[in-house]
Amino acid sequence: MKKTIFFLENRLFFRKFKIFASNERKEKTMSIHTPPIRIDTPYLPFGDMKNAPLYQKDILSVNQFHRRELEAIFAVAHEMEEMVRRIGTFDLLKGKILANLFYEPSTRTSASFTAAMERLGGSVIPINEVRYSSVSKGESLPDTVRTLEAYADVIVLRHPEVGSAALAAQYASKPVINAGDGVGEHPTQALLDLHTIREELKQVDGLTITMVGDLKYGRTVHSLARLLSRFDVRLNYVSPDILPFPEEIMAEVAAKGIPQTQYTNLEAVIGETDVLYVTRVQKERFEDPQAYERVKNAFVITPETMQQAKEEMILMHPLPRVGEISMEVDSDPRAAYFRQVEYGLYVRMALLAMVLGKA
Ligand code: ASP
Repeated sequence: MKKTIFFLENRLFFRKFKIFASNERKEKTMSIHTPPIRIDTPYLPFGDMKNAPLYQKDILSVNQFHRRELEAIFAVAHEMEEMVRRIGTFDLLKGKILANLFYEPSTRTSASFTAAMERLGGSVIPINEVRYSSVSKGESLPDTVRTLEAYADVIVLRHPEVGSAALAAQYASKPVINAGDGVGEHPTQALLDLHTIREELKQVDGLTITMVGDLKYGRTVHSLARLLSRFDVRLNYVSPDILPFPEEIMAEVAAKGIPQTQYTNLEAVIGETDVLYVTRVQKERFEDPQAYERVKNAFVITPETMQQAKEEMILMHPLPRVGEISMEVDSDPRAAYFRQVEYGLYVRMALLAMVLGKA
């Protein structure tokens, strides 16, 4: 028996060797001809879903999404949650690579894109400290993204300038996901915010959403208001005088027929609010540090604030918080901000899978 196995193995080895040797001979005699790479083969067993709604698309602004696409994203995000709960990590994006390019600080967005990619079996090139990369040598954004796309299948970009993600997308042929462009937009945050509202309150139409804090520089509220304007909602904006919600975005939202009201105190609207969305005063965007000091504590949510709120209200925050919500509020079941962080993982898993044609 042993002998036969040995004999068979030897024959196999010999055959492999013959094929290898003849291939090598062929290579030597053949003229140099590179066959075209087949992209559109229908025969690959694990091909991409090319007709998927977000396949190979950039995610630059919430304005690109209609309700039907939103429903699809949230349905996939829900599936992702189920899968993570059931098996934790699975190989939907095995072999795919994400370049995580961050020119501004980040904890959640960067970590959640990494976690999302790794939970789907893919891997990540992290470039969090651009000062250690060639950017510090003066490399332009177009050159950096054209380099990274040679290595990666998708690029996540955070950058201090409005429009930077759109610029990167012009140069990159691989999908670019905007992870915050200065005071512009933060579309994936808005998607996870909306997913949180749906999961927690089971509906969006009919809700009153009150946004509080730095509405001028806070990019998350800019994206969220635009996204909510696809639904039948009322929006309240509560901010210090010097940090109002931008007029041009109010005009966009008004064009969709959404009632919007501006306030400088929260008491006026807390009782009618279904979602209280609190934001940090964006210190890094202030030119005058004294102006920041004057408004940094303008609104602080305390247990007393929560007493005036509805029983079923949810309290959200994109985080980091730097004092706008007192820690005593954390144990209130309406405090949804850490659940919101978790929903973010599932939404980003969904987006990566969809952009890469696996959902
Ligand atoms: N993390 C959010 C952002 O990147 C909110 C914040 O920084 O205040 O916009």
